[in-house]
Amino acid sequence: MEEHFILKILRGVTGEQYWEEFPLEKTPFLNITAALMKVQQEPITCDGRRVAPVAWEQGCLEEVCGSCSMLINGKPRQGCTALIEDLLRSTGGLVVTLAPMTKFPLVRDLVVNRDLMFENLKKIGGWIETDNSLDQGFGPRIAPRLQQELYQLSTCMTCGVCSEACPQVNEHSSFIGPAAISQVRLFNSHPVGSYSKDKRLVPMMEEGGVTDCGNAQNCVQVCPKGIPLTESIAKIGRDVVKKSLADLFSLPDAHS
Ligand code: SF4
Repeated sequence: MEEHFILKILRGVTGEQYWEEFPLEKTPFLNITAALMKVQQEPITCDGRRVAPVAWEQGCLEEVCGSCSMLINGKPRQGCTALIEDLLRSTGGLVVTLAPMTKFPLVRDLVVNRDLMFENLKKIGGWIETDNSLDQGFGPRIAPRLQQELYQLSTCMTCGVCSEACPQVNEHSSFIGPAAISQVRLFNSHPVGSYSKDKRLVPMMEEGGVTDCGNAQNCVQVCPKGIPLTESIAKIGRDVVKKSLADLFSLPDAHS
């Protein structure tokens, strides 16, 4: 006999959100994305109403693009790697809930606008200036241990899950969020990127910068890439203190 479960989805637009429930057949290795595709093929609710297809985002389907981030059973994560059987097992029930992330502007249903994540990368200069560097041959050597550290930091997919989990990211705060801080660490630790180190630390010293972190440590628990975000925040916090002192002592003598 076929076994079923219910996909309960928070739908709609800002100010007009509502829950809808869809019955689906349990199949092995069904993930949230595939379950949403089934709903799209047959958008009929538990009470037999045919409704508009659910809107959600998806891209790579292998937890690399971050676009299918949403609240799954209340926890921020990616739909592509969330298996229905695991979710049902963890709750012991027959319902899986999906809701859009709350820290980003809602577009519709499960789709939010994560532009802020990318604006923050622009703010911190999340890139390495390489103009003309190829003309100068190979770049500096990087020790294997640093390569490993940089690689892990580079796996950030700007999914927004860390900001969603962070209590300091809210409508009353301008906190830039853990991902951008960790990207400052990535680019400042790179031998070529470090030429612009001071420039990247400036937004970290301003309002919304690293000192706005409340040390809740939720971010590191939800990051699907296992990025050591609290370590990055601590490191950038120390760099900010060093830069502040350096700036202070490099000022022309205020008393002269
Ligand atoms: S640090 Fe982790 S949780 Fe935050 S945006 Fe990057 S991949 Fe997502």
